[in-house]
Amino acid sequence: ILSVAHLEKSYQKRHVLHDINFSIAKGEVVALLGPSGSGKSTLIRCLNGLEEYQQGTLTFNGEEVTPTEKNWQQLRQKIGMVFQSYDLFPNLTVLDNILLGPVKVQHQSREEAKATAEKLLDQVGLREYENSYPRQLSGGQKQRIAIVRALALNPELMLFDEVTASLDPEMVRGVLNIITELAQDSNMTMIVVTHEMNFAKQIADRVLFLEDGKILEQTPGKQFFEDPQTDRAKAFLESMD
Ligand code: ATP
Ligand code: MG
Repeated sequence: ILSVAHLEKSYQKRHVLHDINFSIAKGEVVALLGPSGSGKSTLIRCLNGLEEYQQGTLTFNGEEVTPTEKNWQQLRQKIGMVFQSYDLFPNLTVLDNILLGPVKVQHQSREEAKATAEKLLDQVGLREYENSYPRQLSGGQKQRIAIVRALALNPELMLFDEVTASLDPEMVRGVLNIITELAQDSNMTMIVVTHEMNFAKQIADRVLFLEDGKILEQTPGKQFFEDPQTDRAKAFLESMD
């Protein structure tokens, strides 16, 4: 569904991604792991045009992506993203936050979009909050709404960047369960950045291990956790215990 070839990215003088090559097949779950500062967020953000890159090509569904703002806007309807900070609009209700994209951007009718939104809210157990405002929700609930909002556009690929990193421990499980269900029951294609190793182990078909902006290994999930190929990955896993 997506492939990345020879991607290079610098911030001013700092070169942060070096010759990144990988692809992800439909239905596959890739965990993007690596130490802090290795370039995980930067890579994820390059994949939906939130960061510019200097070289390399992205191919989505067989078509090379020409990196113009207009193309990114279209692509962001097919590539959903959820970040560490849930950026819900504080002045809109939960439902209106979710409907914004489908109605304003995709021009779905409000009724149609609402039916989808309510179904998704049911799935994450938050239907009763549809008329609440974000400030009335806990962190974990807000993050579940942020996931629903991304899913409401019916994306083909989801990107998750440390979505539980700012949550209280008791909120983490609920959010991870939703992502796990999405991977297992809905067969969603996804790239997941996480420091929750048990979760990564549970859902990853494949692990990309990034260090200093380079992919040091790409290994099937089970193998990565049992027998990583590089000493760096081994040390990383030990440090996460
Ligand atoms: P973490 O696990 O801490 O989230 P990460 O793997 O996501 O780390 P990135 O945030 O992608 O790492 O950062 C990669 C490198 O790029 C770091 O050296 C960081 O300092 C640098 N960097 C990130 N964002 C910017 C920016 N906007 N301007 C300049 N440098 C940046
Ligand atoms: Mg990051």
